[in-house]
Amino acid sequence: MKYVYFFGAGKADGTGEMKDLLGGKGAGLAEMTRIGLPVPAGFTITTEACDYFFKHARKNPKELKGQVLSALSRLEKLTKKKLGDAKDPLLVSVRSGSARSMPGMMETILNLGLNDKSVEGIARATQNDRFAYDAYRRFVQMYSTVVIGLPKEELEDRLRALKKYLNVTDDTQVTAQGWRELVGEYKAHFKQKTGRDFPEDPEEQLWGAIGAVFESWMGDKAVTYRRVEKITGLLGTAVNVVQMVFGNTGDNSGTGVCFTRDPSSGEKVFFGDYLINAQGEDVVAGIRTPMHLNQMAKLMPKVYSQLEKVRSKLEKHYRDMQDMEFTVENGKLYMLQTRTGKRSPGAAFRMAVDMKNEGLITLEEALERVKGEDVERLFYPVLDPSLSRTEISSRRVVTGINAVPGAAVGKVVFTAEEAEEWSGRGEHVILVRRETSPEDVGGMFVAQGILTATGGKTSHAAVVARGWGKCCIVGAEKLDINAEQKRMSANGRVVNEGEWITLDGGDGSVYSGQIELVRPEPPKAFYTLMKWADQVRKIGVRANADTPHDAKVAREMGAEGIGLCRTEHMFFKDFEHPEKSGERQRAIQEMILAETTDARRRALDKLLPFQRRDFTGLFQEMDGLPVVIRLLDPPLHEFLPKDPAKQEELAKELGITREVILKRMEQLKEANPMLGLRGCRLAIIYPEILEMQVRAIIEAAIDCQKRGIKVIPEIMHPLTLDKREMKILEEATRRVADAIIAQEKVKLHYFVGTMIELPRAALLADEIAEVAEFFSFGTNDLTQTTMGLSRDDAGRFLPEYVDERKAGIFHADPFQSIDVPGVGMLVDWGIKRGRATRPKLEVGICGEHGGEADSVKFCHRVGMDYVSATPFCVPIARLAAAQAVIEEKKQSKKK
Ligand code: PEP
Ligand code: MG
Repeated sequence: MKYVYFFGAGKADGTGEMKDLLGGKGAGLAEMTRIGLPVPAGFTITTEACDYFFKHARKNPKELKGQVLSALSRLEKLTKKKLGDAKDPLLVSVRSGSARSMPGMMETILNLGLNDKSVEGIARATQNDRFAYDAYRRFVQMYSTVVIGLPKEELEDRLRALKKYLNVTDDTQVTAQGWRELVGEYKAHFKQKTGRDFPEDPEEQLWGAIGAVFESWMGDKAVTYRRVEKITGLLGTAVNVVQMVFGNTGDNSGTGVCFTRDPSSGEKVFFGDYLINAQGEDVVAGIRTPMHLNQMAKLMPKVYSQLEKVRSKLEKHYRDMQDMEFTVENGKLYMLQTRTGKRSPGAAFRMAVDMKNEGLITLEEALERVKGEDVERLFYPVLDPSLSRTEISSRRVVTGINAVPGAAVGKVVFTAEEAEEWSGRGEHVILVRRETSPEDVGGMFVAQGILTATGGKTSHAAVVARGWGKCCIVGAEKLDINAEQKRMSANGRVVNEGEWITLDGGDGSVYSGQIELVRPEPPKAFYTLMKWADQVRKIGVRANADTPHDAKVAREMGAEGIGLCRTEHMFFKDFEHPEKSGERQRAIQEMILAETTDARRRALDKLLPFQRRDFTGLFQEMDGLPVVIRLLDPPLHEFLPKDPAKQEELAKELGITREVILKRMEQLKEANPMLGLRGCRLAIIYPEILEMQVRAIIEAAIDCQKRGIKVIPEIMHPLTLDKREMKILEEATRRVADAIIAQEKVKLHYFVGTMIELPRAALLADEIAEVAEFFSFGTNDLTQTTMGLSRDDAGRFLPEYVDERKAGIFHADPFQSIDVPGVGMLVDWGIKRGRATRPKLEVGICGEHGGEADSVKFCHRVGMDYVSATPFCVPIARLAAAQAVIEEKKQSKKK
């Protein structure tokens, strides 16, 4: 088995393709060597060796020793230097490097090969004692801490003591003699702690360093990083043993990091930093302020122009922006690393579009360069990236589930009413609740952000907030909320009502105080790329929007209609005339409390004008595009107040007693409301609700049509499970609609269809399609009912199901990314069966999955006509839909 890959003098055993085996760094070094760039020679020990090491109780494979020694002797021949030599010794760096970049998470040892003899050799060869002993003390310190695991602090203390003794403040002021003494002290310390001498034998040093790099793969830092970044399926780290080159031999030397384009703006400018007379670590550690590359160009024009050539060669070669590290040793350039550079979301768009326009990549490649997360992050305000991370993390109060990204700053309030009241006074608030319910929407709407102690990514708070693109953190279980005393606490920190907090929906962190936010502007390239996506994609993209305002945003985001209007949200908030919200709430509560059909009808009559106005607004915004309106869905008890004072108030207004309200609430109480009297079951039991809603829709449509607006109403019944049920609903809908149309003497085409949210409905889709003119898969409920997982509670344990180090049962949260094998099978079946009956059946999806890239690709594959996503996710869906087409093409080519 080959465990060691050599590179040097223009030849390399490995290639840039071999990232999995050689790690990103090893593959990059091999490739750069092959294409003739100046790279110091060395060799890479494969990730397979690391894998073996951990699978065999930390023993190396037998062949490794021989292979490393022969690569080492090849390196010695090539460099004409020997490790540990007393005259002009070879020194090497030993660096980690896995297939996926894990910056700073694993270990590195520099200057390996130094001992009491070879340090003199270096001093002579460079004619620089100070440099030689500085390198030596760095090596002894790194070896002691990284390989042996001695605490860094103890060694740092000795350095501090030395500087104090020499009466200097800066490392650069320490003399050769000073460093020599420090080396002596470090070694004595080493002996005292380990009971043995510091290893002088370079070969022993090398094996120690290789073992330490392997070991760092399983270090806490690295393991945590992989978990957070969802990096799975890698074998381990490779180890790169490379000839040392020194950027710290004087003013004709230095080290730098550069990007082939600006990683923040995406602009095609050479971007980077250079530090004179320094080693790579100094740039990363930010001890001294580096200079910009254009300054370097003036100081070292020759080296700079060589670097420019490398830049263009590497970018052309990899056909993507590269992030490179280099060192200049006595005026000679060495490339130490190249990799695909990380970039801001805005830069990702700009680079994709520019590279396509430059002819560097194809249109398809440009579309694949941008991820769903890039689109998402483009629109949300974020914590000002120039602020110190450590300062920010010292303010963390608690962490929850990052339901909607972005960031928000505001004063804490604990009820929706207070949120409205405070914001009415012009305050910015964050609404903190144990959980939210429809009666909170008013407060949620005015809040800058929402924080709940319970719930998962499809809980009420998350779904509603996502629709508005509003920062939301849910399931912060450690948060103890005491709404009565108006305070919350977690991890020993208390936050009172009115105090500022900052939410970072990107990672679910809650911080005390106000942290500066910035809102990114979408770059021009965003619109270009989206246009390209629209040319390529086949599936339509609509939006979930409940109000004319949402509908407007949706159109701006490129939605081609409304795929879901959840009418219940309109019962709580009058978005146009907030002062009228109370009237609406009263009417719906009166309707629920009504004891007779007549009383119920009277209450519904009051709601009719409100609903009609809402629908008129939607049709106007969507002129010429379809609007799917879903009839009432949630269980009725959600509309009644839980707070005794509010119950009292309601009773007074309606001229009844609080007891009547309590009795009605008792009647409505259900053990499993999600499986109870909700969805179309409400319309079956109380047909007058359906009648009012259909009337509002049809009257609004006729009114718009008369004013020259093109309306395409699609009336949708939620949670159906049977053809007979659907038939009753359809007949009732048409009876009301057709009567109004006849009376108005107009022509109006409208559609009647259903959501598919229950397994039974999917299984019997052929029968339901005899009645329904369209299907829309409500995959929030369909996931809940297929998997038997409560969408509001599963957030508590689902993370364990998804975490690879824990149960690792699913690769993603099924409420976020559709469960293709299970729920997906029902969707696929439902579409096929439905179209077997009605070949032109229009099929869409309106669960949260409609805005998630992988799920959109699934929807494309099963032949849906459209996906519907919250307005801010519409661009994600447009892009993913185009990527689905490209992936499909690639697949069919492979076959
Ligand atoms: C669904 O269940 O997927 C759906 C869109 O409806 P809701 O989230 O309102 O239950
Ligand atoms: Mg539903």
